[in-house]
Amino acid sequence: MLTRTRKAAKPKDKAPPPETCASLLLAWYDRHRRALPWRALPAQTPDPYAVWLSEIMLQQTTVTAVKPYYEAFLAKWPDVRALAAAPVEDIMRAWAGLGYYSRARNLHACAKAVSAEYGGIFPSSEEALRKLPGIGPYTAAAIAAIAFGQRAVVVDGNVERVVARLWRIDTPMPAAKTQMRARAADITPQQRAGDFAQAMMDLGATLCSPKNPACSLCPLNALCAGFKAGDAATYPRRAAKTERPQRSGAVFYLRRADGHVLVRTRPPRGLLGGMTEFPGTAWSADFDHQHALNHAPVKAMWKKQMRQVEHVFTHFALKLDVYLAQVKESTKAPEGARFVHESALDDEALPSVMRKVQEIAAL
Ligand code: SF4
Repeated sequence: MLTRTRKAAKPKDKAPPPETCASLLLAWYDRHRRALPWRALPAQTPDPYAVWLSEIMLQQTTVTAVKPYYEAFLAKWPDVRALAAAPVEDIMRAWAGLGYYSRARNLHACAKAVSAEYGGIFPSSEEALRKLPGIGPYTAAAIAAIAFGQRAVVVDGNVERVVARLWRIDTPMPAAKTQMRARAADITPQQRAGDFAQAMMDLGATLCSPKNPACSLCPLNALCAGFKAGDAATYPRRAAKTERPQRSGAVFYLRRADGHVLVRTRPPRGLLGGMTEFPGTAWSADFDHQHALNHAPVKAMWKKQMRQVEHVFTHFALKLDVYLAQVKESTKAPEGARFVHESALDDEALPSVMRKVQEIAAL
């Protein structure tokens, strides 16, 4: 006789009641909100410039890394008109080390657009915000909600994690994003949408952490399917990881006898566009280490350093051989390059990968 085996039933993942979810979360936020330099205090009106600047800086970057940059930018350029009037090179320099440099160029372009098209006042609708340089759907929603109190659905990585656990969303990332957004929309309230967005972010950044969520302290635990099933930490589901491709190259650190170093500016578009670098080869998967010196900017007694620079970009990992040489004070910079004094390198828009080259050269 045929017998049927039944799969173990998964706990029913009912949607949390939207009003309950929002009111519980907002009550928690009123007591436990994080104090962040760009965040308005409860009685204050949010400053759209501060919200925009912080949201751009926080893309792919931690709060800890952003804080000193945010404070330096605000001290130097206290409003959007001041930022628009600054030379783009100054902005690139002030951004150096924060990564994802296209954000800095877009920041400047956006400041100019807000000054020229909106008289220095940010538009409040998601639609108008999305038309500005560097403002995508997430940032437009965040500014509309946080700076202007509009009901916009704000979904960052923290919010995705909370939502995935509340509903035990089994679809792996990134395919689950549409579903997560719809679920986040279900629980976004009409009132206090900005506070709600920040409350979700705070919950994800504090209690609903990636590895060990502190569910016993969470205001939503009675509604959370992941908590009830005891497997919250396994959400969001991830697709199997693909290996990050590897690229290699060589970089040439040329010191002149008078303490100057050879640098050049990268092309304005593309990876690290407009940033300063020490001359080097292209970065490729099949880099020919044997013939690296064919690409040296000048003829000199180049010495390869023992240590390599290792750096990880979003789409590839990089290993760079570092070559050092010293030349006479009379040496002229080749076309497209320039000498700057080593003590002035801090004022150059050197990205992190080039700071690593500098560290090895200083050993
Ligand atoms: Fe996250 Fe736990 Fe709260 Fe669920 S109960 S939202 S898993 S912290």
